Amino acid sequence: MTDVTMDKIVSLCRRRGFVFPSSEIYGGLGSTYDYGHYGVLMKNHIRSLWFRSMIQERDDMVALDSAVILNPAVWEASGHVAGFTDPLVDCRTCKLRFRADRLEDSQCGRRPSMRPGEFRECDLTEARQFNLMFQTQVGALEDASSVAFLRPETAQGIFINFKNVAQLARRKPPFGIAQIGKSFRNEITPGNFLFRVREFEQMEMEYFVPPDEAERWYEYWIEQRLQWYLDLGLRRSQLRVREHSAEERSHYSSGTSDIEYLYPIGWQELEGVANRGDYDLTQHTQHSGTKLEWVGEGGERYTPYVIEPAVSIERIFVAMLVDGYDEEVVAERDRTVLRLHPEIAPVKAAILPLIPRNADMVTRARSLHEELRRRWLVEYDDGGQIGRRYRRQDEIGTPWAFTIDDQTLEDETVTVRDRDSLAQERLPLSSVAAWLDDALQRPWESPKR
Ligand code: ATP
Repeated sequence: MTDVTMDKIVSLCRRRGFVFPSSEIYGGLGSTYDYGHYGVLMKNHIRSLWFRSMIQERDDMVALDSAVILNPAVWEASGHVAGFTDPLVDCRTCKLRFRADRLEDSQCGRRPSMRPGEFRECDLTEARQFNLMFQTQVGALEDASSVAFLRPETAQGIFINFKNVAQLARRKPPFGIAQIGKSFRNEITPGNFLFRVREFEQMEMEYFVPPDEAERWYEYWIEQRLQWYLDLGLRRSQLRVREHSAEERSHYSSGTSDIEYLYPIGWQELEGVANRGDYDLTQHTQHSGTKLEWVGEGGERYTPYVIEPAVSIERIFVAMLVDGYDEEVVAERDRTVLRLHPEIAPVKAAILPLIPRNADMVTRARSLHEELRRRWLVEYDDGGQIGRRYRRQDEIGTPWAFTIDDQTLEDETVTVRDRDSLAQERLPLSSVAAWLDDALQRPWESPKR
């Protein structure tokens, strides 16, 4: 079994242009990354698959795109100004700052020169609360009245639009509002690549329900979201659902479960599903003076409860890479391959002329590429030996490669090579598009154990 470390993932991401450390030529900026070509493609696929399952395939959901900088009163009402904090300690020995509740994961007391297990005595200060919201100024005046925050979650943008959307949608709960957008947190325990970053793209959905149905919908959404990951090929053995204890839960939550993935750093939250009760709508009603409730035709009225599945593209991105990363020896050569679900794979197929100097092969390969690119992200590649081209496509997770060779010139067939099994079969050039269409719709299961 391949030992998948975060270092191997980071190195592949860099080597193949998925992700680069941000501002690298200036020495970088902690926990901030830039996405290269394949990273952008893969993020787009994750985003649209979430959108498809939340919006396109459902009758009870609408989309929203709210602003990043909201009236600061929103964050007072939501409890973030007072309570969105992590407990921090300073180490007088290491001169570094750590999260008091994550000390065991930190480097406190460690020096690079030390042997494993060796620690230095640390001299820690008392824990202080540190607010994770980034502050900024709105407008030209730099005084207290112009202080604003970059949103630390997209959810509040949904709650403050409840009235607009509920009235327009004319829906009786249960119904949901879904949004995808950037959130910002001044995280203090950076590291671990994209798992914990300061700027990330959240995909959140607030599902408004009658209060007495909240428990049922909470269970429903845990199950739905877990199934979504299984359908996208994450291995069942690497996923689990963990219910929070009462002490662990956020101030607003009356029930939270994490869908956890076994990352190289251990079991960690991939997605959270929370029963937020009527906390948010009630808080905004009290602070804004605008009643945020559902009013039925017959005058029936109540404040709905909210079930929230929330995840970032970044945590899915890392889970997919870790789950897919594999190393094996084939014909005495090492092969690194990303066994990604075809829907997640950045590029769906590669089109390769076997001999790039052969003009007939190139013409046929180019015209197949032209045909397929109208419908899918596919890649034409004529750079170097065929073996090297296959290995490059394996490393970016391309599920299939169509090769135009001598036989194509005789009988108009091509070879299709399968990334996972390495099986090759021949098909008529004219049926490649239909074959790919069909292949992309087949269920996919990871061959990794
Ligand atoms: P953690 O306990 O790991 O800090 P959290 O409980 O604070 O996470 P939530 O506030 O529930 O996270 O945010 C919802 C989702 O947003 C998380 O499940 C995760 O997928 C994502 N997320 C939160 N913080 C980050 C971050 N710093 N970087 C990347 N994704 C994040």
